[in-house]
Parts: sequence; C-alpha cells; structure tokens
Amino acid sequence: MAIGFLRSLNLMTTLETLMTAVPSLALTQPWSHMTPRYLVPIEPKRCGHFFTDVLIIGGGLAGLRAAHEVDPSLRTLILTKDKLEESNSTYAQGGIASVWDPEDRFDNHVQDTLVAGVDLCDSNVVDLVVREAPDRVAELIRWGTRFDQQDGQLVLGREGGHSHQRIIHALGDATGKEIMRAMIAHTRERLHTEICEETFTIDLLTHEGRCRGAVASYRNGKPYLIWAKETILCTGGCGQVFRESTNPLVATGDGHAIAFRAGVAMRDMEFMQFHPTVLYIAGSSRTLITEAVRGEGAYLIDATGHRFMGDYDPRLELAPRDVVSKAIVNQMEKTQSPCVYLTMKHLDSVHVRDRFPGIARVCAGFGLDIATDSIPVRPGAHYMIGGCEVDGNARTSLPGLWAAGEVTSSGLHGANRLASNSLLEGLVYGAIAGRNASRSALDNLNLELRVLPISNQAKRQSVQPIDLADIRNAVRALMWRNVGVQRREERLTEAVHAIQQYCSYVLAQDLSGVDGWELQNILTVSLQMAIAALARTESRGVHFRTDFPSTDNVNWRKHLEIVR
Ligand SMILES: Cc1cc2nc3c(=O)[nH]c(=O)nc-3n(C[C@H](O)[C@H](O)[C@H](O)COP(=O)(O)OP(=O)(O)OC[C@H]3O[C@@H](n4cnc5c(N)ncnc54)[C@H](O)[C@@H]3O)c2cc1C
Repeated sequence: MAIGFLRSLNLMTTLETLMTAVPSLALTQPWSHMTPRYLVPIEPKRCGHFFTDVLIIGGGLAGLRAAHEVDPSLRTLILTKDKLEESNSTYAQGGIASVWDPEDRFDNHVQDTLVAGVDLCDSNVVDLVVREAPDRVAELIRWGTRFDQQDGQLVLGREGGHSHQRIIHALGDATGKEIMRAMIAHTRERLHTEICEETFTIDLLTHEGRCRGAVASYRNGKPYLIWAKETILCTGGCGQVFRESTNPLVATGDGHAIAFRAGVAMRDMEFMQFHPTVLYIAGSSRTLITEAVRGEGAYLIDATGHRFMGDYDPRLELAPRDVVSKAIVNQMEKTQSPCVYLTMKHLDSVHVRDRFPGIARVCAGFGLDIATDSIPVRPGAHYMIGGCEVDGNARTSLPGLWAAGEVTSSGLHGANRLASNSLLEGLVYGAIAGRNASRSALDNLNLELRVLPISNQAKRQSVQPIDLADIRNAVRALMWRNVGVQRREERLTEAVHAIQQYCSYVLAQDLSGVDGWELQNILTVSLQMAIAALARTESRGVHFRTDFPSTDNVNWRKHLEIVR
C-alpha cells in the first residue's frame, strides 16, 4: 500500500514535469585558465603520426559496440589504456535490464527509469534505450554471450528500483566478464579494426574547431599523433577519483578531463552514484556486492543486528541506491561503526552459493561464508552519471567527436541511474555513435587525412619534483570526505579551495608519464565535481546536501553545464 502510494506520487510528479524539457544552467569556472589545453607539448614535426578513418578511444562495452557499426571499408582503431579486458564493463556483476518477461512492458521499464532519475531524465532518450534493449541483448547472444538460463529460458533477476524481474545475467554474478569475453572475441575477428592496448590517450587534437584525432603514448613512450576523420570517446567512468570505489584502476576520468580540455560541454558532474554495498574488509579489494543479492532477499543489518532499512524507506532493501547509501551512512554514524552488514542466513544456503559464486569466492578468501556469515559492507563511488553532453545521435558539442557509455551525459539516468541500465546505455549509444561516426566518415571520404598545425602555446613549468602518489591519495581522501555520499557547503567549499591549490602547481607541470597525466585528470574532474556539487543547493537523486535536504523543482530542475 505504502509502496503503491509512493510510486503513484512519483508518477504524478514525473508526468507533470515530463512535459517540459530540462533546461541547463551554465557554470562559469574562474579557474579555467589553470587548465592547459594540452598536457604535453605537441610538435608535429618531431613526433610520429598514425592515420585512421575512425578512432575509438576506449575498448569497454560502449567502444567495442561502436566498432561493430563502422563500415568495413573504413579503417578503425581502438585505443585502451591497459589490457583490453580491464574496464568497468568487465567488472559488471548484476546484469543488463531489458523487458523480456511477458508480464512486463516497455512502459514499466521507462517509468522505473524516470522515477529513479528524479525529473532530470530526458524521456525521449529513456524511451529509445528501453525499446532498443531486447534487440541489443539478442545481438549479444548471437555474438556468443551465454546468459544464465533455466529450461531454455533466460533467468530474469530483480534489482532495486525495478518493478519487474528484468535483469539478464551471466555466470551468476559475473555478467560483464562473460559479455566482454564474447565481445572481445567477436571484435578481434573484424579485420579492418585494429586494437592498440596499453596506449594512453593524453588529449584530443583539435584544429579550427573540429576534433581531428588524439595524442597518445604507448607504454609511457614518446607521445605520437593519431589523425582521424571521426573520433568516438568511450573512456568510461571516474570512480578512482574517490578513495572508496568499486571501479578498477583504469577509471580515473581521463575521458572527462580530455573532453573538458578540448572545450566539450560537460553536464551533471555533481551526480556520482555511490553503490551502497561494497565489501569492507581491511586488506581486501573494494569488491562490489551486487544489488542482486538484495534482490534475492538479503537483509541489511547494523552492528547491533537491527534490520534498519524499514526505518528509512517502505521499499526496504530494494529502495533505490541513493536511498540505501544514505541510510547506511546514517546508520554507521548512529552506531559509530565503520560498516553495516548484509545477511542471507535466512535464505537457502545452496541457492545462495550457486547464485553468487564470485562473491562467495572473494568472501571465502577472508574466511566468510556468504550463506552463514554476515558480510561487512559500506558505500563506495560506483557510477559517474555526468560527463560529455551528447544528443540523441551521440554527438558532443565538438564537431567530429562522438561519445558513448559512462563518459557521457545522455539524459538516460537523470539524477540517479537505475540499476543495470548502464551496460544497456553503452550498447545502445555505442551503436548510435559507431553508426553516425561511420556515416560521417563515409560522407567525408574526400576529407584529407594529413598532419595539421596544432597550436600548443601553454607555458609549461618544470619545478621541484612532486610526489604524485602522495597528492593522488590526498585528493581521493578529500573527495571521499567532502564530496561523498553526504555533502554540505563548508565541506564542499573546503574541497574546492584545496583542489584549486593542488591544480595551481600540478596542472602547470609538464609530467611525462601515465601516473602524472592521470593525476592531472583526477584533479580536473574532482574540481568540476566539487564546484557543481557546491552550486546545486538542493538534494536530488544521488546528490545529497545535508544543508539542503529537499528536492527543489522550482529552482533546480535543471542541468548544470560546465564549459572550459
Ligand atoms: C564493479 C562494477 C559492477 C557493475 N555492475 C553493473 C551491472 O551489473 N549492470 C550495469 O548495467 N552496469 C554495471 N556497472 C557499470 C558498468 O559496468 C559501466 O557503466 C559500463 O560498463 C561502462 O562501459 P564503458 O564502455 O562506457 O566504459 P568501460 O567499460 O569502463 O571502458 C572504458 C575503456 O576506456 C579505456 N580508457 C580509459 N581512459 C583511457 C585513456 N586515457 N586512454 C585510452 N583508453 C582509455 C579503458 O582502457 C577501457 O577500455 C558496474 C560497474 C562496476 C565497476
């Protein structure tokens, strides 16, 4: 009854506000002058050159899906900063959301996404992605992905915020690993697609207001220039900006920073989704404990054994992620404890171990049996909602640059991503970006691929050697403390000042290596996040201000846009 009431209340708000498009408010950045246009000196006469028709930066699900849309007559090059297997996509656990159950409807999935997004979603985008989902999933199956099945039917799970069973998964809780295995194998068969791993993209090349490719470095070697007719940015997220994160080490927000330096309009940078349940054992990696665990019936209890979600939300453990994250942080404070616990002791132990083999293995390594012991968890930075603004054609504000996946702000997620909608977004927008970049490259067949004069007039300093690891740790800790799950003015202001201070001497340096470029990117992204979080004086979705706890649709139903 209570849930029904809440849903209909949300539905009314959403329908009312849906009728009007979400406006944008441009934020000025007085510190833009600190950010150099390029991180490295570019001297076309003194470096190597490479030419391709379509350049795809990033080989996660979005990047690989884009590659499959490029016409075989065009040369395609994919760059990845680490091995191809190392991406957020590979680590995805729960699955992909798609309407598959005969009882379910596209409208239900659309509605669940809009409700989670708290009036900031673009309803046309939501509609497009939801309706394309079954075709994109079917395509993955054709290309070799083995999703979990029972009696010849796909097994459908349920996660927080979804009104129906619609999460398709693989290998129990290792969906991303299986999808990426199949996608990588399928991509490697494409003869006109070349993949360069361990190749760090430092910046986008721009000339006369158009993206012309990128400057990159293979294994920390001398930067070289890649000239392309069309470029697609698919660099994923930036969880590593925070000390606590579910993201692998590659997720340092390079694409967000690269795009910003090239003048691309960035949007919704304050919206970082914190996953409520990240394994919290000293010495363990910050392994995510998938939402599907709660979908199967796990309870959240605090240090005293109290099942507390009922104190916060009638949807209990299946409330949306932001609600559960806030409740956990609150309960940790109340009980003066560094974590809370997930328990599945009341569920069938054989089913629990079978359904979550990966989590069972990791926990067993620390002496925990997931079926009989309580699992210590707390929130961690998980999914970046904000990024390069893209339109329905995956076009960014920079001509010649397309983007897809977690690096973008497409309008699908609004102020809060619904669980398992992001692999889906990568597939749908990856295909759109690949198709449109391909068409554009074919239309521009006569566009000469040649070395262009790139102006890089930034004054570079080489001052005292700086301890990159020390600054990186300090920034990540600062972001976690001051720009984390709970935010308020004093702490955000303190963060902005501290990051500006770091920027003033780190961004001006000529740092010749991945560690340095990553740090410069982390600082660039952190500052954007802190400034946007400070500006948004309300709470909405994943952005929670303790000093402005209500959602303010009158003044704040708008995107924040940051342009260099
Ligand atoms: C632990 C975990 C579990 C998740 N579970 C789910 C789930 O169940 N369902 C769901 O829908 N979503 C889930 N997500 C989110 C989802 O995995 C990601 O949003 C999605 O995979 C992003 O895909 P992408 O292609 O945009 O980026 P990624 O998969 O992260 O790929 C990024 C690519 O860019 C490359 N790159 C980055 N920077 C550079 C650079 N400077 N130079 C060159 N290359 C670069 C990387 O090497 C990589 O190849 C999960 C995420 C995590 C971390």
